[in-house]
Amino acid sequence: MTPQKPTILVTGGAGYIGSHTVLALKQAGYEVVILDNLVYGHRDIVEDVLKVELVVGDTNDRPLLDKLFATRDIAAVMHFSAYAYVGESVTEPAKYYRNNVIGTLTLLEAMLAANIKKFVFSSTCATYGVPEVVPIPENHSQNPINPYGATKLMVERILSDFSTAYDFRSVRFRYFNAAGADPNGLLGEDHQPETHLIPLVLMAALGKRDSISVFGTDYPTADGTCIRDYIHVSDLAMAHVLGLEYLLQGGESEVFNLGNGSGFSVKEVIEAAESVTGKKIPVVECDRRAGDPPALIGSGEKARKILGWQPQYPGLQDIVTHAWQWHQKRHQ
Ligand code: UDP
Repeated sequence: MTPQKPTILVTGGAGYIGSHTVLALKQAGYEVVILDNLVYGHRDIVEDVLKVELVVGDTNDRPLLDKLFATRDIAAVMHFSAYAYVGESVTEPAKYYRNNVIGTLTLLEAMLAANIKKFVFSSTCATYGVPEVVPIPENHSQNPINPYGATKLMVERILSDFSTAYDFRSVRFRYFNAAGADPNGLLGEDHQPETHLIPLVLMAALGKRDSISVFGTDYPTADGTCIRDYIHVSDLAMAHVLGLEYLLQGGESEVFNLGNGSGFSVKEVIEAAESVTGKKIPVVECDRRAGDPPALIGSGEKARKILGWQPQYPGLQDIVTHAWQWHQKRHQ
């Protein structure tokens, strides 16, 4: 008989990247408990699709965390829950520092008290700010240009100090642009409000929006629009399972970019969506959006080398096709 795999606490498991990772963890044989305050997460996804235990609560709630760790045999924590709207982080920074930094510190202190010392953290390419080189390597300087990126960088620093002081092991993943949906149509992206390019383009294709706004056509790129490294959410999920296994096998604290090393422009994304959906998508060209660097591309080489990560869906075609399957089902 194969020994039972350990139980993993996944904060934010009812959200976009968290839910895809819970699915991957289940498929790999792990027991999962989700902690989610359901501010942005979806109860129906947990109950109908993931079918794992859901604890509704907040990472700022220390008594709840203490109880959770005392009553379950948790081997590691994967921490997805965070506020992640860049624009809102500029207008409401207190909300971001309280949730993303203080909430995470509370979680980490509760883990220490319970002697749980393995942690997988969702960081972001927004910690780099405006890159000096692309593809961006992990040792690139980190100068975030918005409070969201700053909160994630602060947590990275806390983790690095915890590693030194308490032998607390963490894997920090810096995501590029998470996109797409579960290839089998079980899960997908459903943000309220939605601000991301691919879902908005697909909502326009579905006729739920009149058009898609293109934020800036005068960038120093081939077609004048911003370039981003879109990474399939199921590939991200797989990286998390590998990161967890690396820690469970005794790996030291590490940081990894999760990107494909190549980018697509906003116009290329819209063209791909027109080709996948067979619909003409009306475009409105607008001014640049504040805080958008022209190109963000991440080298995923280190994750490939150390974790054996192999993205299955690096092309825009698969990413948009899977997102389209989901959007048709969820929003029609
Ligand atoms: N974008 C756009 N129109 C939109 C939403 C996004 O032109 O309605 C652009 C945005 O300026 C950026 C790219 O699409 O260059 C990806 O933006 P998204 O918000 O999806 O992700 P981000 O790069 O901000 O994490």
